[in-house]
Amino acid sequence: MDHFALVDGAMQCEGVPLQRIANEVGTPVYVYSAATFERHAQVFRDGLAGVKRKHLAYAIKANPNLAVLRLLAKQGYGADVVSLGEMQRALAAGMPASDIVFSGVGKTVGELSAALHAGLGQFNLELEEEGSVLAAIAADRGLVADAVLRVNPDVDAGTHAKISTGKAENKFGVPISDARGIFDRLAPLAGLNLRGVAIHIGSQLSELAPLEAAYRRIGALVQELRAAGHAITHVDLGGGLGVPYKEGDVFPSPAEYGAMVARVTDGWDVELMFEPGRVIAGNAGVLLTRVIWVKPGAGNPYVIVDAAMNDLARPAMYDAWHDFAAVRPTGEKMIANIAGPVCESGDTFAMGREIDVVKSGDLAVFRTAGAYGATMASTYNSRALVPEVLVSGDKFAVVADRIQPETILAAERVPEWLQA
Ligand SMILES: *Cc1c(COP(=O)(O)O)cnc(C)c1O
Repeated sequence: MDHFALVDGAMQCEGVPLQRIANEVGTPVYVYSAATFERHAQVFRDGLAGVKRKHLAYAIKANPNLAVLRLLAKQGYGADVVSLGEMQRALAAGMPASDIVFSGVGKTVGELSAALHAGLGQFNLELEEEGSVLAAIAADRGLVADAVLRVNPDVDAGTHAKISTGKAENKFGVPISDARGIFDRLAPLAGLNLRGVAIHIGSQLSELAPLEAAYRRIGALVQELRAAGHAITHVDLGGGLGVPYKEGDVFPSPAEYGAMVARVTDGWDVELMFEPGRVIAGNAGVLLTRVIWVKPGAGNPYVIVDAAMNDLARPAMYDAWHDFAAVRPTGEKMIANIAGPVCESGDTFAMGREIDVVKSGDLAVFRTAGAYGATMASTYNSRALVPEVLVSGDKFAVVADRIQPETILAAERVPEWLQA
């Protein structure tokens, strides 16, 4: 459920007509609904009511806007970060350092050191050497780093290959069969409190079965590690729950997910950690765009919109589907291709799709653009960096400016030897 709906024939976000945002901020622009974010945060937490000890770490990479993070901090969410930049955002939003988990397959020594200095709550180790390096940095400063080992359960998440992370050939985690040996060698190190294990098998999962299979493997590993004398107090179950991008698609609900988790982890006696990203942010945002031209072609007409692949990369990157809807639909439909102004054919949002009839100048939205939308935006083709707006009730605020090409140009320079 979201808060983007037609009121008197025109789409609003909560109490604010999208037309008003387009007039005042221009297009393209991301529009987020605070009420939807809050609802998703609540529904995910409620779904896990059967899990007594839990920690919720919102995966910042899904939507790292500072205002969004502030809103989620107020909902009691910590963060899962994958870079120092994300760590800075979480701290700036008021999330306690101790509620932040540091994931990522390529944390540099500098990043490990800075995160330790900031007092981050947990390091999710991706390889043995990272653990020994972290232990040495911590011991050197008389600190102890809380850490878990990310394992690769070799489960096919059944999602797009580029966002599958739990198959043996993926770059993430250590093979489950290596975990015991790594624990034996890392656990005794001063400076490290290796307290558990982590997994994250992929994103946009449409079924619970792969998650359940992975969780069962982790449960068996916890038993094996305990039998070997290791104290396991934390298990990080990652993120990955998918959201419907197409009207009518049905996905497992947070309640169904939570019931599965409670059933599978019964008796584990650990604090369970969760890293939801898309399921919190996906349906909380749209990309508002204006139709520039409707261009007749050899086949279907091309609806050329002012949003492009640099603003919303998912269709070009993952062949992803985003529903497209007119802000003021007439009720009539047309079959069209939808594309942006960028000079490559990859800048296409849809082919041969039945959509609301639109004409030059009309406003429209790409739905379900709250996750992996603005965060992946670039300035390719020297376009402006797309701005973001947060709506709450009948008010809205620009929460990220449109960064103009002049500003980006100002950070570039011609070396002296080329100036003459
Ligand atoms: C991307 C990521 C997540 C969030 O994934 P979603 O599918 O958005 O829930 C969680 N944990 C890790 C380690 C990730 O890389």
